[in-house]
Amino acid sequence: MANYDLLTELLDLPHIRVTHSQQVGQDRLNLFIESTVEAAVCPHCQQVSQTVHEVGVPQMLRDLPIWNRRCWLRYAPRRFKCEPCGNSFVERVEWREPGLDYTQRYEQAIYERARREPVAHIAQTEGLSEDQVAGIFERGAKKHSLNGATPA
Ligand SMILES: [Zn+2]
Repeated sequence: MANYDLLTELLDLPHIRVTHSQQVGQDRLNLFIESTVEAAVCPHCQQVSQTVHEVGVPQMLRDLPIWNRRCWLRYAPRRFKCEPCGNSFVERVEWREPGLDYTQRYEQAIYERARREPVAHIAQTEGLSEDQVAGIFERGAKKHSLNGATPA
């Protein structure tokens, strides 16, 4: 049996464990991950729920490369059911913004590169489209200006 404790430790995402890995060719690695959190707070009534209602469709999220291999995380967001109010809700994770196909740290890395390098070059080396790179840069630039990085 494979043991994924080391990959989990190296991946270093909060409350996430690696359950499986898959090499795709010479330069790509897929890591199957799952949340280790057993409860979530209902956004409607703030009660803690431990009832997993359903597990969503797995998504492939781009993450930082590992050992020079492009890395994707296979992650299925869970939907919790809140018994007191009857609401069901998808768990939130701190390392990825809902609806985006990248981890926050991957976006941050691309944003930093996009400040120095041409978009076309990043797109080519990362296997992204130029639109994706431009979108990451715009979001990053907006975030940084909101954080008070505006010049005096
Ligand atoms: Zn509730």
